Amino acid sequence: MKIETALKVSAGLVVVVMSLVATIPYLLEVRVQSAMADLTVVGQRERDFLALRNLLRDAETGQLGYVVAGKEEYLRPYYAALDLLPVAIGELRGKTLNDAERASFKQLERAIEVRLASLEQTVRTRRERGFDAAQALVSTYAGGSDKAQIETLRTLTAQQVASNAERRKELRQLAINSARFAAHLGLAATLANIAALAATLLAANSALRRRHQAERSARNAAEALELSVQLTSVRNEQLAGGTELMHALDLAESVDESSIIISRYFGRLLPKLSGSLYLYRNSRDILERKAQWGAEKDDCGTLELLDCWGLRKGGQHFAEGEHALQCRHCDQSHVASPRLCLPLVAQGDVIGCITVVGQELSGEVGAQRKQWIVQLAEQVALALSNVQLRLKLRQQSVIDPLTELYNRRYMDEVLKREQLRANRRQSPLSVILLDLDHFKRVNDTYGHDTGDLLLRKVGEVLRNSIRAVDVACRFGGEELVVILPDCDLAAAVQRAEAIRAAVAGIDIRAKGQLVTVTASIGVATSSGQSDEADALMRCADAALYTAKQSGRNRVVSALSTEAPNGVTAAAERLESPQPRQAEQAES
Ligand code: GH3
Ligand code: MG
Ligand code: MG
Repeated sequence: MKIETALKVSAGLVVVVMSLVATIPYLLEVRVQSAMADLTVVGQRERDFLALRNLLRDAETGQLGYVVAGKEEYLRPYYAALDLLPVAIGELRGKTLNDAERASFKQLERAIEVRLASLEQTVRTRRERGFDAAQALVSTYAGGSDKAQIETLRTLTAQQVASNAERRKELRQLAINSARFAAHLGLAATLANIAALAATLLAANSALRRRHQAERSARNAAEALELSVQLTSVRNEQLAGGTELMHALDLAESVDESSIIISRYFGRLLPKLSGSLYLYRNSRDILERKAQWGAEKDDCGTLELLDCWGLRKGGQHFAEGEHALQCRHCDQSHVASPRLCLPLVAQGDVIGCITVVGQELSGEVGAQRKQWIVQLAEQVALALSNVQLRLKLRQQSVIDPLTELYNRRYMDEVLKREQLRANRRQSPLSVILLDLDHFKRVNDTYGHDTGDLLLRKVGEVLRNSIRAVDVACRFGGEELVVILPDCDLAAAVQRAEAIRAAVAGIDIRAKGQLVTVTASIGVATSSGQSDEADALMRCADAALYTAKQSGRNRVVSALSTEAPNGVTAAAERLESPQPRQAEQAES
């Protein structure tokens, strides 16, 4: 049965029982009233019987007095009784309660009639025939019918009295029984009421409990739904952010730029967490912190493989609480914060590691966040590896493998770009064109490998002799070029002279001999007045030619004054140091 139905039934029962209880006093009152009325009737009958007996006694006494004294006045009670007896009999007849009483009363009436008739006959005899006749009559009757009549009357009267007494007893018992019945009924009704009330209370209690349970379940369901909506929205945000991050990394120009992008996005997507990005140096002996985000900056600037449990394991390492396995690279005073270390693995190689720290890594939501960070780190590792690969390929496409200087293609690009920039800014742009002297002989004498080694050494000299903004390139063969933005002719010549001296200082051993080399250098500078890169190079070439012609191992400079009409100014020798042992290689 449903709880609501049980509640209604119980409440209905309570109402019914209480209504019954309310009718008990009324029913009792009715029964008691009826018994009292019957008792009153019985009492009246008893009194009427008494009066009847008194009247019969008066009639007997008056008749007897008249018979004895013969005086009429003695008959006064007799006549008075004769007058009153019909009334008394009528009263009693009207108060008979049942058929048995009525039958008995009829017998009594007949007995009274018979007795009164005897008394009347005696009185008439006394009056008409005198005392003796009356006495004789009384004496005659005294031993027979009179005695029987009186006996009958007494018996019938006694019966009526006994009947009255019995009736009164019955009525009293009825009243007692009614009261007892009412008390029992009241008790039973009260007990039923208590049971119904208890059942109602139980049902109500159960209904309340069920409702509370239902409310609690509904509240839990609502909370779970809200949490899931929040998680979904965070997840969507993270997915969108992650996609954006990957896209930005695809466009990154360098590892440093990639590191900045990663720190910005991690800071934005995980605003309550802090972290660092470490990448292996080219030497692969140590990891360097490339970026950091968040408020908790507790990681050190560099770390070794053994400093990080994540790197040692080659997988994620999560540490929470003071008893957890803590990495050496984190500040030990911050160990209270949960920390996640994730090696960045791409194509089986560990390229670095990401650390994330903060309370938001704790708990159920934290576990989901960690999962997402792990996935993000996997993507970041791939993207970073792509950036590194891209840079390497680009490097390979623009770097000459022998000298490790930029190649001709790159040189052309840079020269054009720098020339345009110089024209825009109206700033000087210089080029140094270098050609090794009698290099063919070196090859011929010591072999191509020795020539290669010398070329590599010259490349090294160039890389070490220039500024960060300068670009050193292999123009072709053993001809090398340095592009010097924002550098006037005097400074360029100075730089060229330093290079020349450094090249002349190179010595290697081959076939048990010391091998050296010299270089002839042409320097040209554009004034930044709508000049062209080709004209600048032609100028430098002309200067180089002059240097060769002048005896080699020297620097010759020329102002690039080629006008838009293509006229090139004559090379002008600015400096011509004494040739060193240019042909030392031969000796
Ligand atoms: P000059 O002083 O007039 O420049 O004499 P040179 O012998 O250097 O003459 P030139 O510049 O015409 O000859 C260039 C030589 O450089 C020819 C070639 O054997 C050599 N060479 C060019 N590229 C390489 C290279 O990659 N490795 C080696 N070993 N030799 C090279
Ligand atoms: Mg040459
Ligand atoms: Mg040469």
